[in-house]
Amino acid sequence: MVLEYGRRVNLTAARDIGDMVHKHLIDSASPLLLDEWPRGARLLDVGTGAGLPGIVLKICRPDLCLTLLDARRKRAWALEEMAAGLGIEAQVLWGRAEEMAREAGQREAFDVVIARAVARLDVLLELCVPFVTLGGRFIAMKGPGVRGEEMRLGEAARGLLGCGRPRERSLHLPAGAGERVLLVFPKLRATPPEYPRSTGVPEKRPLGEGG
Ligand code: SAM
Repeated sequence: MVLEYGRRVNLTAARDIGDMVHKHLIDSASPLLLDEWPRGARLLDVGTGAGLPGIVLKICRPDLCLTLLDARRKRAWALEEMAAGLGIEAQVLWGRAEEMAREAGQREAFDVVIARAVARLDVLLELCVPFVTLGGRFIAMKGPGVRGEEMRLGEAARGLLGCGRPRERSLHLPAGAGERVLLVFPKLRATPPEYPRSTGVPEKRPLGEGG
């Protein structure tokens, strides 16, 4: 379905079903290897694009209560159609994370927040952590390149936003699809109300560089 919709609304760079399965679907299911998924957990996928990893996680774990968020309207429409076609329940939100995280029903309202291929770690933390409930966690799906400078920049951001040090789990994807690094940030304190800053600011003035 992603490939089919992809032709219409430019959902993904994947060209064929093999590419889709190895690079995207197996990778999207990989966070389930972590021990971070209480039954019925409220899950938010920020910058979900074609529904990755959110829709795959929901297919594998139907008990999860899934919300998908993307800034692009056409993608949000396609996601609603896909969820209906697959017969899965998912709430689809269309908007910027910077704005959505200020809405009372969304802020600190999710047990698990996840994001794949959305932004550099310090930027990503500012977009995602405000949605996580106290005691919940944010899972960043990253590549091995995160180790070093990107991690150092994220380190400055996570403390400001209320998260503890991340746990790291690394795994090798099949068919030469590379290494996946999963970073799990526990939310220990409420995120200060000034975060996230206005739309575009997290990217223009990243917290890791002093904000
Ligand atoms: N997560 C998907 C995947 O792994 O295939 C999509 C990745 S795509 C490269 C990044 C997505 O993040 C785009 O669909 C874009 O619209 C969305 N996005 C980027 N910044 C965002 C923001 N501030 N708020 C909401 N969505 C955002």
